[in-house]
Amino acid sequence: MSFSEKIRGLYQTQLGEIRNAGIYKEERFIHSSQAADIEVEFPTGAEVKKVINMCANNYLGLSSHPEVIKAAHAGLDTRGYGMSSVRFICGTQDIHRELENRVTEFLGTEDTILFPSCMDANAGVFEAILTSEDIMISDRLVHASIIDGMRLCSAQHDTFKHSNMEHLEEKLLLHADKRIKLVITDGVFSMDGDLAKLDIMVELCNKYDAMLLVDDSHSTGFIGKTGRGTHEHCNVMGQIDIITTTFGKALGGASGGCVSGRKEIVDMCRQKARPYLFSNTIAPVIVSGVLKVFDILSASTERRDKLEKNTAYWRKGLTEAGFVLKEGDSPIIPVMLFNAKLSQDFSRDLFSRGIYAIGFFFPVVPNGQARIRTQISAGHEIHHLDKALAAFIEVGKKYGILGLTKEQIVAKYGL
Ligand SMILES: *Cc1c(COP(=O)(O)O)cnc(C)c1O
Repeated sequence: MSFSEKIRGLYQTQLGEIRNAGIYKEERFIHSSQAADIEVEFPTGAEVKKVINMCANNYLGLSSHPEVIKAAHAGLDTRGYGMSSVRFICGTQDIHRELENRVTEFLGTEDTILFPSCMDANAGVFEAILTSEDIMISDRLVHASIIDGMRLCSAQHDTFKHSNMEHLEEKLLLHADKRIKLVITDGVFSMDGDLAKLDIMVELCNKYDAMLLVDDSHSTGFIGKTGRGTHEHCNVMGQIDIITTTFGKALGGASGGCVSGRKEIVDMCRQKARPYLFSNTIAPVIVSGVLKVFDILSASTERRDKLEKNTAYWRKGLTEAGFVLKEGDSPIIPVMLFNAKLSQDFSRDLFSRGIYAIGFFFPVVPNGQARIRTQISAGHEIHHLDKALAAFIEVGKKYGILGLTKEQIVAKYGL
């Protein structure tokens, strides 16, 4: 047997270490569709419990929208189930190109190319357009998929301190001699919910002759007055060279991603991006669903408006209750607890009160920055938010942290 007891022992030791460090990830099984109200089995084998979901990326409440489901059914009926081919052989349908055009129009870019996921878009884009003569200059808090994409690219790499525009300018000066300079950031940062300063970044990129890539996965569909994304919010539409984003969050939440931007860059990806060339694209059923999502978003801003109202309501409620929050303009609202164990205990107590919100701690966030990350949705009604708020306040009282400052919480529970 090739999987010897020695090899098995090696993995068992590593898994044991992960458990002992308290960072073993236990999955929760949802027995319903994804929505504001879900039915969760946790821990595994426990009775299924009805809870309010406060931690999905279902920002627009479209994951189980009847019209999206209907469109997906129709796509299944007219275009079949699978493509059984990568695109450059025989894996592209008319609806794939239609979706690319819809994304281009929605984001206000020149062209778009679909990828199986945004993880794949980020894995493919850098190596497709850069060489060892070029440099990637990235914000220190960019998403893991960007970090992996940069690792797969032969270009040189440097970073700037999170959202620190003076530091970015220093780096642009330092690398003035490189053939292409590509500045890289998330639009909305997923752990803190803060927005990149795209207006300043565009200015700096113009001044120092650099390109700008923004991963807008946590904003496409709802940030900005008509939901186009952080570039709309920052008034720089048409000025971002490359946008990567996902269909796996606000845009129905199934899967798929894309690179959208300058025509030549999209074309380079079609010629050279490996996840595009060597992996099947999005299944027709999902393409049909996402096309319907864009119909819904183009017809009205009702959903992103409701999301904005819900977010303001939730932030105000938590602030008045005396929680320490991270500032930001997005529906990602982290409730700061600082201590890792406290974040786990807090999350468990919320769950027992019918509220599903996960505690994040090192290494997902920096040491001493443990939190409950709440995410608001247009699928929430005020009664959901009121019930969740009541539970947060009850648990906050139990641990005696309401009205305390960061320093006081840290003094009480340690880091
Ligand atoms: C979620 C996320 C991704 C990955 O998206 P998938 O389509 O699920 O692969 C990439 N980048 C950022 C910033 C994300 O938040």
